[in-house]
Amino acid sequence: MADNTPVKESEELVNSKGLNFVEQIVADDLAAGKNGGRLNTRFPPEPNGYLHIGHAKAICMDFGVAEKFGGTCNLRFDDTNPVKEDVEYVDAIREDIHWLGFDWGDREYYASDYFPQLYDLAVRMIKEGKAYVDDQTSEEIARQKGTPTRPGEASLYRDRTPEENLDLFERMNKGEFDEGARVLRAKIDMSSPNMHFRDPIMYRIIKTPHHRTGTKWNVYPMYDFAHGQSDYFEGVTHSICTLEFVVHRPLYEYFVKELADESYCPRQIEFNRLNLTYTVMSKRKLLQLVKEGLVDGWDDPRMPTISGMRRRGFTPRSIRNFVDRIGYTKFEALNSVALLEHAVREDLNAISTRVMAVLNPVKVVITNYPEGQTETVELENNPEDPAAGTHSMPFSREIYIEREDFMENPPKKFFRLAPGGEVRLKGAYIIKCTDVEKDADGNITTIYCTYDPETRSGLPGSMRKVKGTLHWVAADTAVNATVRLYDRLFNVENPGAETERDFRELLNPDSLKVVENVKLEPYIAENARPGEHFQFQRVGYFTPDYDSKPGNLIFNRTIALKDSWEKEQKKQ
Ligand code: ATP
Ligand code: MG
Repeated sequence: MADNTPVKESEELVNSKGLNFVEQIVADDLAAGKNGGRLNTRFPPEPNGYLHIGHAKAICMDFGVAEKFGGTCNLRFDDTNPVKEDVEYVDAIREDIHWLGFDWGDREYYASDYFPQLYDLAVRMIKEGKAYVDDQTSEEIARQKGTPTRPGEASLYRDRTPEENLDLFERMNKGEFDEGARVLRAKIDMSSPNMHFRDPIMYRIIKTPHHRTGTKWNVYPMYDFAHGQSDYFEGVTHSICTLEFVVHRPLYEYFVKELADESYCPRQIEFNRLNLTYTVMSKRKLLQLVKEGLVDGWDDPRMPTISGMRRRGFTPRSIRNFVDRIGYTKFEALNSVALLEHAVREDLNAISTRVMAVLNPVKVVITNYPEGQTETVELENNPEDPAAGTHSMPFSREIYIEREDFMENPPKKFFRLAPGGEVRLKGAYIIKCTDVEKDADGNITTIYCTYDPETRSGLPGSMRKVKGTLHWVAADTAVNATVRLYDRLFNVENPGAETERDFRELLNPDSLKVVENVKLEPYIAENARPGEHFQFQRVGYFTPDYDSKPGNLIFNRTIALKDSWEKEQKKQ
């Protein structure tokens, strides 16, 4: 699948009035006075997993269009399959939608609330000869379905009398039959060109207790028999979903017509799913990663889940900006994760506090700085936001710099520290390397430098030019921390499309790297609250992990500083 280029595309995604195609449909319906001029959308998650970034796209649409046109959006849990569902997921879904910045007020609904009405409708359809109980196995039913070019065959049980069907359906619900023994099917058309019309299953027997209705029911409605009617019962006017439901739309309309009339009828509209490079979005696969311990839970910062992204330090605004940029179309595409990362950097650049941390420290001793002396230097919190102010950081005779920032035998264009060379310590002085000390294996243990006291920030000597500026942390006041560096979870661009290999073989073995004994300036440790965003200068954006606590500080790297998306755009 080709990587689309959303930035260019965005101009074509909205019309001259600035509306995308869904918004235009809504505007037209409202202008025509349909449904009494009401607008009511819904977001219908099945509580069988945590929400992912694809759901965020649907949430932004469902809640966004309602906000834009003064309508309302329901949160409806589509809980029709007790085998896979759990309250843990219900709670997580609520939290994630709120975190994204949307609210459903008191409009929280459950498809399971409609089980009685759905059952009554099924009974009515049976009595009207529009539904029958089929005793065949699901394999037999599938075999009889035919193909799009070959009509299906009628089931042996298709012509049962309404009385017999009603008796069997009631006994199915009483629990008299085993799971899989019988199903209720709509009697429509076994030769329809739309496969979904070939007597679709309406109800199946499930004996697992339901998280809300317990053991009250032994039959559960299928998605197609539940969704449109649930929309109808709630007064939903625009049922916005993804493109795979286009083929279900005639059936949606067929069942809804059993209830609706001219005065009010919900309408299904479809847009393209979000697919991201280097990611899988299928809940089944995400669940597998969690269950098999291949990641550390649903909110593992490598997961494409909203909770994972939150834990990693992504902001709601960056996710919403990203969704806005890729837009809504009628064709499937694969979006570049680099565009999401670009949106994250853009927001973090605007809001995060600049601090200093050394990930791979080597000690520097400043030999002409008096022993026991300390002073403080002032650092700007955010050059993008003058109102963010400054904070102070201690400077002393011994400091840490990154091991990679020193080379004993540097190549020509190495502008960092080398024997005899000078660099500026950010916010402090210019230092010059005079000597190095090594251990028995030849590893550098200490770098000796002198400093030029005239070059402190604010003094005239600070104008003196040197090529390199390094971040650093004073040794005696440094606070230790652990940082987790994340990389893409998969090694291939489109793991979901791979057919040859199991998706688990495509996992990136280096997606998590843990670095211990990182040296932080004290200010970071003092402000390491969950939800804070820091830019460790020259290293990346970091946020405290949920498990971080005083004495055992843990930071997640949200993202590195380098922006591959901007680079790609400049090349074009
Ligand atoms: P399942 O296979 O469990 O049905 P699902 O991803 O469809 O998985 P739902 O909980 O049914 O999950 O989805 C709720 C809503 O989110 C639906 O309206 C669906 O269309 C939308 N949605 C799901 N995945 C995406 C995606 N990748 N991009 C945009 N919308 C999505
Ligand atoms: Mg679904």
